[in-house]
Amino acid sequence: MTAKSMEELTSLCKRRGFIYQTNEIYGGLQGLFDYGPLGVELKNNLKQAWWKSMVYDRDDVEGLDAAILTSPAVLKYSGHEETFSDPLVDCRSCNSRWRADHLEESKCPSCGSKDLTEPRPFNLMFKTNVGPIDDGTSFAYLRPETAQQTFTNFKNVLDSTSRSLPFGIAQMGKAFRNEVTPRNFIFRVREMELMELEFFVEPGTDEEWHQFWIKNRLEWWSKQGVPEKRLDLYDVPAKELAHYSKSTTDIMYKFPHGIEELEGIANRTDFDLGSHTKNQSDLSITAKVLKNSSSNAKLAIQDRETKRWVVPYVIEPAAGVDRGFLAVLNEAYTIQKLENGKERTVLSLKPHLSPIKAAVIPLKKNNEELVLAAKNLKKELQGLSLGRILLENSGNIGKSYRRHDEVGTPLCITVDFQTLEDQTVTIRNRDSMDQERVHLEEASPYLQEYLR
Ligand code: ATP
Repeated sequence: MTAKSMEELTSLCKRRGFIYQTNEIYGGLQGLFDYGPLGVELKNNLKQAWWKSMVYDRDDVEGLDAAILTSPAVLKYSGHEETFSDPLVDCRSCNSRWRADHLEESKCPSCGSKDLTEPRPFNLMFKTNVGPIDDGTSFAYLRPETAQQTFTNFKNVLDSTSRSLPFGIAQMGKAFRNEVTPRNFIFRVREMELMELEFFVEPGTDEEWHQFWIKNRLEWWSKQGVPEKRLDLYDVPAKELAHYSKSTTDIMYKFPHGIEELEGIANRTDFDLGSHTKNQSDLSITAKVLKNSSSNAKLAIQDRETKRWVVPYVIEPAAGVDRGFLAVLNEAYTIQKLENGKERTVLSLKPHLSPIKAAVIPLKKNNEELVLAAKNLKKELQGLSLGRILLENSGNIGKSYRRHDEVGTPLCITVDFQTLEDQTVTIRNRDSMDQERVHLEEASPYLQEYLR
């Protein structure tokens, strides 16, 4: 099941501490959100699942965490200064601004007027001063994608790891886009997190690798609880392709506000590495790139046998963490009718994504013996390093179960008076609501097995 509306999700997120609006006490800042105590856990778990599948589970990918502030030269030669823009129109009646390609009819969504200006390009990159002098020349961009910092480190990674083709560099982190109309909660924001793999391949094998990564990414989303049957593939038409792309396939998901892009998988050819390389006579760069970069870099790889220099082609699966978070949350959101006619809200998250892996609940909050036994159990389970284990000492067992259903905690472990007598606890399963009595010594292996 999914949420009926975005409001259902935003309300749960605020109430339970997943997501808050940034600077809300001052009226908020548009297009920016903060991840609360549970949001940060879910977000980190999603990122970690991506990192594991990209870096740890493969033998051909290295990781990188580069700076956010980026030299203007990089984004000049990458083509972003010239082309990373959206078409902007102004409404002459109410002065509101819109993205021309997002207008369903050619009229202002705010006041209905048809008196709009001609679309003009609006560059989405944020600039900031660097150093103490603000003379307009010493500035940097906040990166609009992590990819450029990966390309500019291509030679560093190659030299320090002795990789040969095909291989990839994975990077996750913040990126910034001055979106004209940020909207739909965390779907379109101005400060986002990206999970981007740049996978470098021999020219000529690029189309095959493109198909490989499309399949791989669909399978990964499925493991995060967004099944393939809920996803669609959209081949971006030539006229809509980004300036660097030979072909792009978007993974589309039905968000509560409509079907939109969750992840883009692009064939970036040798555009970027070629662009950052100063004209080198021993290189054949096939894409129409600038080849007049002011860098001294030779972002190419030498074939060990033929000694031929190759500028690799790049396949890039690029996913938004925030959009992923929204999709995962929406898929997990379920309202269940119970036999007694009541309803319960359950977040059926995959256990590896759950913000809290288990809640340990003493039946009575003022009973020292019960609380001590619960604290000891929490400490033991936390020591397994499976994620966050929460000591839930609210004293109201019914309320605790409801709260943990709603935030997706897979198991609740209750310490009661029987525990003091026979060393057993009750383990309640979020999905089935079944309860079983387990010896304290069995609690750790039970949890480990369940989360495996
Ligand atoms: P859109 O067409 O929706 O603006 P895009 O094609 O510009 O997206 P890409 O440049 O392909 O997006 O970025 C890769 C991924 O980054 C997207 O698939 C999406 O998940 C995420 N993303 C892009 N822009 C935003 C944003 N403003 N807020 C949240 N996530 C974003």
